[in-house]
Amino acid sequence: MIIDCHGHYTTAPELHNQWRIDQLAAFKAGQPTPEYPVISDEIIRASIEENQLKLINERCSDLTIFSPRASAMGHHEGDQRISKEWTVACNNLIKRVVDLFPGTFVGVCQLPQSPRADLTESIAELERCVNELGFIGCNLNPDPSGGMWQTVPLTDKYWYPLYEKLVELDVPAMIHVSASCNENFHATGAHYMNADTTAFMQLIQGDLFKDFPTLRFIIPHGGGAVPYHWGRYRGLADMLKKPSLDGHLMNNVFFDTCVYHQPGINLLVEVIDNKNILFGSEMIGAVRGIDPTTGQYFDDTKRYIDAAKISEAERKSIFEGNTRKVFPRLNKKLEAVGR
Ligand SMILES: [Zn+2]
Repeated sequence: MIIDCHGHYTTAPELHNQWRIDQLAAFKAGQPTPEYPVISDEIIRASIEENQLKLINERCSDLTIFSPRASAMGHHEGDQRISKEWTVACNNLIKRVVDLFPGTFVGVCQLPQSPRADLTESIAELERCVNELGFIGCNLNPDPSGGMWQTVPLTDKYWYPLYEKLVELDVPAMIHVSASCNENFHATGAHYMNADTTAFMQLIQGDLFKDFPTLRFIIPHGGGAVPYHWGRYRGLADMLKKPSLDGHLMNNVFFDTCVYHQPGINLLVEVIDNKNILFGSEMIGAVRGIDPTTGQYFDDTKRYIDAAKISEAERKSIFEGNTRKVFPRLNKKLEAVGR
């Protein structure tokens, strides 16, 4: 079985996207939020069948862990109320996709973070999504200020109430930023990779997993710059008098395979322990074109794992086993239907 741990609803219906535009315009004008539009099952079904499902079938993966479009989370827009309204709408839409394609998608939620708010609303929405909608994890934005980094590091006590809830519910968080409102940082080319790398370094500097030994984070996009500079991070851990990375972080931190060329995947599987790698494609996402040197889609990451020089057991762990361990609620769901 092939589980893609990283998919977003980047093809959400136009009615949904327009409502967001209208919601923000109303907020700026001091008006109440307009009513959420009626979106038919047919519209949702078509938005998936013509896009993600087509590629899933072509690429022979089985199940996608699916969350709202990350670049549209826009936590820096509006305030806590605006973020909550938008987040609930986005998560409910994911639930509808899961219900329309129950064997193909399983839900992960965005959180109604807001730069000047505490995490009370995020915790409530996480509980709703896990307990009521059957979601299996969340995306956590380490920089809800959208490229301005105005929030404290991930190891700060500010985040602890959310971590306590993640541990209690036994769900992981993917560390995932949203849009960049800093013109220095291109969203998917710089801000995403910066944030992946930044999150990992913050975790090295702290002792978060001493306090939360079962907390699990997925750092997407192949871990940003981390695997490529693994020696630097091991050396920094040593200089900072931290334990070696194996015990300090690597029982709790996992990288996906959203690296869009073969040499990058080869490096990832050579440098990082097999148990820490989860198959992901972020399809349809940041890079949608065809690589002229291979004639294949850049984000067809299954090809790279298929071609990597690893054992069949290691390949199976990347495609399935590791993800079942990181997402125990997914494992339970699959076992319940004999998958
Ligand atoms: Zn993503």
